[in-house]
Amino acid sequence: MKILNGKILAQEYQEHIKNSIVKFKEKVKCAPGLAVILVGEDPASAIYVRNKIKACKKIGISSFEYKLSKDSKENEIITLLKKLNQDTRVHGILVQLPLPSSLNTEKILSLIDPKKDVDGLTAENMGLLFLGHPRICPCTPMGVMALLRYYQIPIEGKKAVVVGRSNIVGKPMAQLLLKAQATVTVCHSKTQNLSSLTSSADIVVVAAGQPEFLGWEDFKSGAVVVDVGLHRSQSSRKSLCGDVKQDNLEKKIQALTPVPGGVGPMTVTMLLENTCRLAALQRKAPFFEFSSPPTLQEDPPNK
Ligand code: NDP
Repeated sequence: MKILNGKILAQEYQEHIKNSIVKFKEKVKCAPGLAVILVGEDPASAIYVRNKIKACKKIGISSFEYKLSKDSKENEIITLLKKLNQDTRVHGILVQLPLPSSLNTEKILSLIDPKKDVDGLTAENMGLLFLGHPRICPCTPMGVMALLRYYQIPIEGKKAVVVGRSNIVGKPMAQLLLKAQATVTVCHSKTQNLSSLTSSADIVVVAAGQPEFLGWEDFKSGAVVVDVGLHRSQSSRKSLCGDVKQDNLEKKIQALTPVPGGVGPMTVTMLLENTCRLAALQRKAPFFEFSSPPTLQEDPPNK
């Protein structure tokens, strides 16, 4: 079984982006900039934001962090978004989700300038993706596609099943697979006979937010399984687990993303890439070279 190692690919990819940023700075005399808004004290969100800011600093992206209290009023966030939409140092704006339930997430996301929408969640960017002309796509599905590309997993003509239909993972994932010429089925909590669908697929992307709820019996021999889920594990053997029970898979399937070290590091990497893409778009700097991200070495990293 091939391990689709996101940690190693992320390192290589970030090195590639870092080199491109050096050239970008020489040309336009400013660094790509990312603003991150965190509302409330959700501990997982706080960790994600910290990791994103750290990754920005490491590769030369300017970061601007805004921490708002969980009782913040919608108007306060709207005023901040308007300010960031105008700020020329900021090329990408990320509102860390989930927002507290008192806030209208859809309304708040819709106020991000689509040209600064680093998560690709505004109607304009989603619409472009669904029309088959993506400009900026949500980071996690982009990261999955980068992994599949890097490990030369054939997609064209394959049967793909996506488990989950959220705006941030499931739906854009299905669109990207469709664009890559797969035949795609999207499953959700009301899907009947889920196992019969997943076990007939060549590629299964699992993003249901349910710890270890699919296992070896749910996949066909030779399948490629992408486990997007990330949970604190109840098991004493490991601290984190995914949506897939990964035991006993190695003799049956062709390839698997580990948890941790699979999709997670690629999500952060695609956030960095999207920030740079938006900076290039806004500064009209087409020299910004994304056409040669890392390619597979003779011996793909399996550890
Ligand atoms: P959401 O909770 O927004 O969506 C979950 C989706 O899964 C929903 O569409 C839901 O269906 C579906 N679902 C839930 N239970 C089942 C079930 N038993 N059978 C089939 N479908 C089911 O989650 P996200 O999309 O935001 O995230 C999914 C997972 O990915 C989470 O574990 C999250 O932590 C992880 N994640 C990991 C990232 C990474 O970088 N590694 C980044 C983003 C997310 P319905 O629509 O009917 O409710």
